[in-house]
Amino acid sequence: MLSYGKQNISEDDIQAVVEVLRSDWLTQGPAVKAFEDGLCDFTRAPFACAVSNGTAALHLIAMALGWKEMDTIITTPITFAASGNCARYVGAEVDFVDIDERFYTLDPNKLEDKLKDYHQRNRRVKAVVAVDYAGHPCDWEALRELANNYEFQLVNDNCHAIGAMYNGDIGYATKFADAVAQSYHPVKHITTGEGGAILTANDYIDERVRTLRTHGITKDAEKMEQNDGPWYYEMQALGFNYRITDFQCALGTKQLEKLSDFVKRRNEIADLYDEGLSGIGHIFVPNVADFAYHAYHLYPLRIDFDALSISKEEFFDKMRIAEIALQVHYIPLHLQPYYRKRYDFGEGDFPIAEKFYKQELSIPMYPRLSDNDVAYVIETIKTIVSHGKK
Ligand SMILES: *Cc1c(COP(=O)(O)O)cnc(C)c1O
Repeated sequence: MLSYGKQNISEDDIQAVVEVLRSDWLTQGPAVKAFEDGLCDFTRAPFACAVSNGTAALHLIAMALGWKEMDTIITTPITFAASGNCARYVGAEVDFVDIDERFYTLDPNKLEDKLKDYHQRNRRVKAVVAVDYAGHPCDWEALRELANNYEFQLVNDNCHAIGAMYNGDIGYATKFADAVAQSYHPVKHITTGEGGAILTANDYIDERVRTLRTHGITKDAEKMEQNDGPWYYEMQALGFNYRITDFQCALGTKQLEKLSDFVKRRNEIADLYDEGLSGIGHIFVPNVADFAYHAYHLYPLRIDFDALSISKEEFFDKMRIAEIALQVHYIPLHLQPYYRKRYDFGEGDFPIAEKFYKQELSIPMYPRLSDNDVAYVIETIKTIVSHGKK
């Protein structure tokens, strides 16, 4: 069975983990710092703080940026729940802005309309969590300009886009956003099993998330209010245990060595899909903006099922019978019962996202797919669609 995503673990990854398991430090040892240094190298981020998962990274960003009750945070409906949930964890409220029809990322023009609307009602937006959906960077220049003009904080939920580039710059994430969240879940570009990180160019944010990652406790004498002796530490804020282990970080460091090759292979696969699936009626391959180097965490194919005599469910079933397991990214977040009920959202509120949901399918995309696998996926899709044609 081919799935939409899968980890890529080799013998050297396993050896790196085993080495740490035989060492003195399973957690809070040197492998964490080494992984963080590796992340800084690869992403050009001035600071990186590794944590237990991507959701924890978003939660700590929400805390470090000081979001609280009565604050409004805006995100895209086409994302994983955590992009909005992080605001709710700290009591802030969530609103949405629809996606750009071409690139499926948060639309800066619609964001500006919403900001103007808030402004007229004497309300402010505290922050925007923009998502580099599928691995395609948002229009970060436009978002940064809006952030400066309307004075809101800018967060990059970068969980899909490790290895992406904006105007040829692999270090774009921390240049445009105040804080960046990554995830190293097995379906993402590199894995630590569970894992994540907060990247930033802001030393205050880095210091905050580091303390909050470990209960809000500091042992740094310079930051303490008093010092009773060598055993002494202070809990200065209400934090969590969001630490990651050393053996996970050893895996992460090994995976980082291969990340460029992984992203390159994902782009090769995307090229094959583009070629094989372009120019077929009612099928739309993903567009790539001139400013973007796509990291292809996902390959979001769109099919206009209304125009074909086949439903999305039937298509899904037929692919599954052919041993290809698809996924859909995402069910629009504003339509999830929790958000519907809390904010009275419904069908029609974000029409482009809703139409996208009806059409989108994530087809297999991971480095270990062979060219033959890719050809098989293309042929299977073509056959199902041609039988379905009216
Ligand atoms: C994977 C993901 C997350 C959360 O990461 P976890 O490590 O699974 O907690 C958040 N946002 C997006 C867009 C993601 O894809």
